[in-house]
Amino acid sequence: MEAQTVMRVRFAPSPTGLLHVGNARTALFNWLLASRGAGTFILRIEDTDVERSSRASESSILDDLRWLGLNWDEGPDVGGCSGPYRQSERFDLYRSYATELVEHGHAYYCFCPTELLEADRRAALEAGKPPKYAGRCRDLPIDQARTRIKAGEQAVVRFRVPEHRDIVFHDAVRGAVHFNTEVIGDPVLVRSDGHPAYNFAVVIDDALMEVTHVIRGEDHISNTPRQVLLYEAFGFQPPVFAHLALVLGPDHTPLSKRHGATSVAEFRARGYLPEALVNYLALLGWSPGGGDELLPPAELARRFSLEGVSHSAAVFDPEKLAWVNRHYLRLADPGRLADLALPYFEKAGMLPPGVDVVARSYVSSLVPLASGSVDRLEQIPDRLRFVFDFNPSEAIARPDVREVLNEQGARDVIVALARELAAGPRLDRERFRAAAGRVKLATGRKGKQLFHPIRVALTGEAGGPELDLAVPAIDSGAELPAGCGLTPIRGCRERAAEFAAVLEDAS
Ligand code: GLU
Repeated sequence: MEAQTVMRVRFAPSPTGLLHVGNARTALFNWLLASRGAGTFILRIEDTDVERSSRASESSILDDLRWLGLNWDEGPDVGGCSGPYRQSERFDLYRSYATELVEHGHAYYCFCPTELLEADRRAALEAGKPPKYAGRCRDLPIDQARTRIKAGEQAVVRFRVPEHRDIVFHDAVRGAVHFNTEVIGDPVLVRSDGHPAYNFAVVIDDALMEVTHVIRGEDHISNTPRQVLLYEAFGFQPPVFAHLALVLGPDHTPLSKRHGATSVAEFRARGYLPEALVNYLALLGWSPGGGDELLPPAELARRFSLEGVSHSAAVFDPEKLAWVNRHYLRLADPGRLADLALPYFEKAGMLPPGVDVVARSYVSSLVPLASGSVDRLEQIPDRLRFVFDFNPSEAIARPDVREVLNEQGARDVIVALARELAAGPRLDRERFRAAAGRVKLATGRKGKQLFHPIRVALTGEAGGPELDLAVPAIDSGAELPAGCGLTPIRGCRERAAEFAAVLEDAS
């Protein structure tokens, strides 16, 4: 029986900025495939562009991948059997493979100065021809070339693209892809400063790292013919290629800054949960089938296949992401959510520096009141602002509050509530229910006509979390010791009295 090759996939980001969600989707599809097939997931940093690459970007990409839970088996930080995993640490390898190609006649040294290449390019474009290398140095005898290099001339190494060849490669997503070598000019493999070109480094690395499946964005499909030819020149076995269609914005142009958040870091900062982003990204161009969309990573991996990946572009839908996030916010452990939400209170100025542990745990206890009704964590503090800020004069000026107050009997309810709470203790859920029951008896109002005015009087808002939860939360805030670091929170008793007084003044 033939030995089964172990699947090896890789994600190969260029560390030139933040991790774009489109690239995160590429990383995820690689990860899903490796997880399903008990394969190896390699992380390789493609930092040959020294000007644009940075270690800061590399670490933010690693950090985002870890946050998403897309752990890798081999990579710059964890090592592995086919490192180094940064291209900048592999320059000697590229040089020696380039020399090998030159020796076998598959590549040659080219001395053409930039100005000449530029002039050729312009002339070709003017003549309506593809701007490919004119081939001036193609037939330069190798000895001559070596002498010129020894004498100090600068040369690049160019690949000798075979002429008049029809080449086909099979793409696991798009099927057979045909191309003719006529349209391909001899590409530069190694620049005169020793830096490898992407198409060259990627082939050496994928071959030496024994990558079996190359899954990447379709922006690389036009590079693949050159890479296939390089595999052939080296006698390397090419991997399976799978090119993923682009991720588009709602207007069907490639997802970019114009559409809002595009990087994993931005979504993270806005309070999307990693499990939500992973689940949503998995649905971009692939469907787990069976009518389910909300599935944990292990189940996504179990169902994943490249054959199931769509070849048409996927549209990034912020509404759907919000829906997925809401689902995971409802599933998440309350303690975890509170920890994740507190920084947003700090940012909103609702948790000042220096608050004590009692105040922090009080603010944490509020989080579940809002986490079930927001799209993302960032929105939680605003939903709970009513606990911290209570201003009846401003409230009664707001149209939605006025609407409640204009309902028949609303003012009576508020006056009765103020009277009911005046002498009573702080409210827990039972005491609140009992008090509301007595206001009902006193006013004859029930349902919305009872609870809407109570809500505006106690929270200053026409909507919000269930009163059964909001009222005890307000009153336990009112019990916090002075000096806990939070601005004192007014209790329901004081709120009702104040609201009734403001109404009285306004009438
Ligand atoms: N460094 C390339 C990129 O970020 C990766 C290309 C590939 O996966 O082959 O687009």
